[in-house]
Amino acid sequence: MNDLCFIHDSIARWYAKEGRKELPWRNTDNAYHIWLSEVMLQQTQVKTVLDRYYFPFLERFPTIEALADAPLDAVLKRWEGLGYYTRAKNLHKAAMLLTQRQTRGTSPTLPSSIDELIKLPGIGKNTAHAIAAFAFKKPVPVMEANVKRILCRLHAIEEPKDKNLWELAYAQVDRNDPFVYNQAMMDIGATLCTPKNPLCDACPLESVCRGKGEPERYPQKKRRTVPTREQHIMVTLYNDKLALSQRRGRFLHGLWGFDAVEVPLCAAEEIGEVTHAYTHFKLRCKVYIYDELEPAHDHYFTPEEIRKLAISKVDEKILKLYLHSCDA
Ligand code: SF4
Repeated sequence: MNDLCFIHDSIARWYAKEGRKELPWRNTDNAYHIWLSEVMLQQTQVKTVLDRYYFPFLERFPTIEALADAPLDAVLKRWEGLGYYTRAKNLHKAAMLLTQRQTRGTSPTLPSSIDELIKLPGIGKNTAHAIAAFAFKKPVPVMEANVKRILCRLHAIEEPKDKNLWELAYAQVDRNDPFVYNQAMMDIGATLCTPKNPLCDACPLESVCRGKGEPERYPQKKRRTVPTREQHIMVTLYNDKLALSQRRGRFLHGLWGFDAVEVPLCAAEEIGEVTHAYTHFKLRCKVYIYDELEPAHDHYFTPEEIRKLAISKVDEKILKLYLHSCDA
């Protein structure tokens, strides 16, 4: 048996015994469900998606058409807490495009070709490959972070280039059973070939892995310093209600939030600080409260009303700090 046959065979046997076959998006042919799971899982752990987001989202938006028909606010509300809201906005936008394109009398559906999938908002190269492999059983590889790490270790690559990894992935994919092969690769990466302390002794690829002696050497980590951004946040009150605006910029677009100001008003009182780590920067907000004599904002809400709005994690922390300051 050559190495490739051995890899396919031992991966398939391992998956039959150890794979996370019960995951709901692995037990459906519904391309919309698979697409949704891929988008949710891009930046979020399986457990979080499974416990809190996947089913409630599908319950509220059971079809592409239902998602397209819903207002963005409702979509963001169901996404609240998952973060990276651009994912939800692109999902919504893509659903609207698919619905516009549907032919009369049919339900909107995803295209099966990778080239067509990539044209949709929010679907990158890997997501397109995952949808093609899982929903349409195309013989193509997926390439999420876990798979990249396995490929680097299997081939002892310290500084991988995307193009080379895709070539290796295409050469290695099991064309007879891309579904099991890809799911198994992701599971091996998530459970055995972990970034730290991989469990090589239990790995079905151990005998052909060139990196097993020093697995953590592959790939080399790029050192990244994350800048800190400072903001002054004003919690403005009128008649015990809090002023919030709906964000218009690209970042957090559509979510409701407290206003950031260049310079806090002299009469404002500082109540504390909240921090939040984003992928590319850390945000540190000094929070102030200010009681207005006349209403100068368009929208005011009670804390209970705010809980029904789609707001970011940072604004949630700010609201919590404000409520805490009221109790103090
Ligand atoms: S043998 Fe170790 S390093 Fe190689 S793929 Fe398996 S877990 Fe990863």
